Amino acid sequence: MKVLKSLALSSFLIIAVSVSTTVYGASYDVVLKGGRVMDPESGLDAVRNVGIKDGKIAAITTAKLNGAREIDVSGLVVAPGFIDIHDHAQDNLGNAFQARDGVTTALEMELGVYPVAAWYQSRAGKAILNYGATVSHGKARLAMLTGSRFRPTNDPDGADAVPAAEFQKAIRTELTDDQIKGMLSNVEEGLRDGGLGIGIGVAYVPGARRTEIFRIFQFARQHHALIFVHGRYGSRIEPDSLDTAQELIANAAATGGAVHLCHIGSTGGMLAMTLLEMIEAAQTRQVNISTEVYPYTASDTWIGAPILDPGWQQRVDITYSDLEWRDTGERLTEETFNKYRAEQPFGKVVAHFMKEEMIRQIVARPGVIIVSDATGFSEGSGHPRTAGTFARVLGRYVREEQVLPLMEALAKMTILPARRLEPFAPAMAHKGRLQKGADADIAVFDPATVIDNATFKNAMQYSTGIKHVLVNGVVVVENEALTPNVFPGKPVRNAVAMP
Ligand SMILES: [Zn+2]
Repeated sequence: MKVLKSLALSSFLIIAVSVSTTVYGASYDVVLKGGRVMDPESGLDAVRNVGIKDGKIAAITTAKLNGAREIDVSGLVVAPGFIDIHDHAQDNLGNAFQARDGVTTALEMELGVYPVAAWYQSRAGKAILNYGATVSHGKARLAMLTGSRFRPTNDPDGADAVPAAEFQKAIRTELTDDQIKGMLSNVEEGLRDGGLGIGIGVAYVPGARRTEIFRIFQFARQHHALIFVHGRYGSRIEPDSLDTAQELIANAAATGGAVHLCHIGSTGGMLAMTLLEMIEAAQTRQVNISTEVYPYTASDTWIGAPILDPGWQQRVDITYSDLEWRDTGERLTEETFNKYRAEQPFGKVVAHFMKEEMIRQIVARPGVIIVSDATGFSEGSGHPRTAGTFARVLGRYVREEQVLPLMEALAKMTILPARRLEPFAPAMAHKGRLQKGADADIAVFDPATVIDNATFKNAMQYSTGIKHVLVNGVVVVENEALTPNVFPGKPVRNAVAMP
């Protein structure tokens, strides 16, 4: 994952791009005129016209281009559309807010979906953004244990598929060897149906012991599948967040498999910087591991989750008043915590526990991918990361605080996630690049004004300064307004399922 080191080496591509596009009088579907084109892979950072035809970037040039539709983007940055590899808000409400934040591909990699074929079918022809998902370990496991089949819902845990008591029992049940095989045969079916790897929310499935996770790594290696993990422990006391990383590093090293540790800020907590050092050290020893961060100091989960089982105050070093009931914004007390946990275990709770200085350092760290961990909205409430993640990094951390250069921030939103998925999902080789021949997934923004507006009190606020967004050449956002009734999003599937 040392992508940035190769940027200088590939700068020759700038020349290749600019001399190979001397097309005059050609007709393009859309022309973006006179913008500052920034491509993190080649390093191109110059004023160019961009011609789009049949959903692809067909020309990048200083020459004049004629388009059926021409958009003046002078003074604006023209970048590859942002690829969000950690997005639970897989519906068009989520898509709309993410499009206004510059996202063009939104993938549910962490917790995944199941059954996979039905889920892809449910989004076909209806998605604003490109979509895709891993096979959900949690749901494949629940299906094996309970015999339940699932609707293709947006509920990440499968909690709505079986009665609550059965669900709570299942996630705490340790599997026998035969049951592990049964679970893996469900996962295999999901991979055949195009699932982009395996999503494991092991913190939400405390019954999944070390053996089960190791077997999944062996299986994933055999099936050439990437594993995404919400780690076992987000704790500062042992077993702690470092045990989480060590389990993943050990399994990846032992099997040769590939793993991605989700949201290092919230999983690491006070230990996040040590966790990051550990991951970087493993990378230098060829362990195939990567990580990501969402740029906020509070997490979002359900109040009945095992993460909030007794002892959470010591594990996370927080107390009741650090927890916020999402629907009302109220801070909890011992009494309201116990009441909500008993009466509405799947109600959403926001935990304020991370330090801003730590998030700032992780956002700036080379190689760490930016993700939203979008959790969508319920009753108008939500975590601001669904709507604001990418504009927040560009406005707050790049422009206002200058903790990282704009090109590096863009790399973390485009080429880094594209390259991470590329060995498993060939479609990603055409994404995350502002280059001739790439998919016309493009974000055009004003670097002087781009900023997030969503807050914990008011999460459904569009970002400012993301002017135009194109998905497969279709304008889904123009002049900071959504285009109604366009659904150009295409599926991203794994290599096994490709024709
Ligand atoms: Zn998570």
